[in-house]
Amino acid sequence: MKFNKKQIERYSRQIILKKIGVLGQKKLMKSSVLIVGAGGLGSPISIYLAALGLGKIGIIDNDNVEISNLSRQIVFDTNDINKNKSLAAVNKLKKINPDIKLQSFDRRLTKHTIHEIGKHFDLIVDGSDNFKTRFLVNDYCLKRKKILISGAISKFEGQVYTFNFSKKKSPCLRCFVPKMPPNPDVDNCEFEGVLGTIGGLIGSIQANEVVKEILNIGDTLCGNILIIDALKLTFRKVKLNKRSDCLCNEKK
Ligand SMILES: [Zn+2]
Repeated sequence: MKFNKKQIERYSRQIILKKIGVLGQKKLMKSSVLIVGAGGLGSPISIYLAALGLGKIGIIDNDNVEISNLSRQIVFDTNDINKNKSLAAVNKLKKINPDIKLQSFDRRLTKHTIHEIGKHFDLIVDGSDNFKTRFLVNDYCLKRKKILISGAISKFEGQVYTFNFSKKKSPCLRCFVPKMPPNPDVDNCEFEGVLGTIGGLIGSIQANEVVKEILNIGDTLCGNILIIDALKLTFRKVKLNKRSDCLCNEKK
């Protein structure tokens, strides 16, 4: 794989970073990521990953853009109202970086669709807004030993967790949330509210963790949960232990 002149210019500020360089940039350009949910988290995740030259990005979301999404879902604009989110997001990302491969999936996330679509991607980023989807994505990544970078936002707070299921010691979402909470379909942001910038904070960290996991640089968040309180402006990293009676500990 050779860079053309435009690519060298476009990614020059990353290529000069010693921890990335030509090889790192090429690795990013050969990698693929599936983003689950084009919402408050999926917006910044997809914008940053597209801009920094991640080779193939897939976005799965079967919802349509609503006016109440626009305060935080920055990949959309007013003209996108009533359009399918995955399609509208991909159209916007094409303008940001025509150099990368983009795929939209206007599909509801089920056990079947995540298995069918997920296998074409190296790494999964969960930006969904409900526990039902988060559990489905967790169980899929656990089964297929994929890296999962998950995020959640509500009110003025957010969390990021990385699970690297190729490592035996990695806990999973179920270690942290053993039982499906009541109303697992419910989008918390709809009932509890969320400040627009919280998606930016958490989504940017998720995109940052994607780059670190692909390039194997820095300290992985795997095995920890990062909890951000934007009002107090505190960032807490808490160790997440693998539960002995969890699904992730069962012999397959
Ligand atoms: Zn577990």
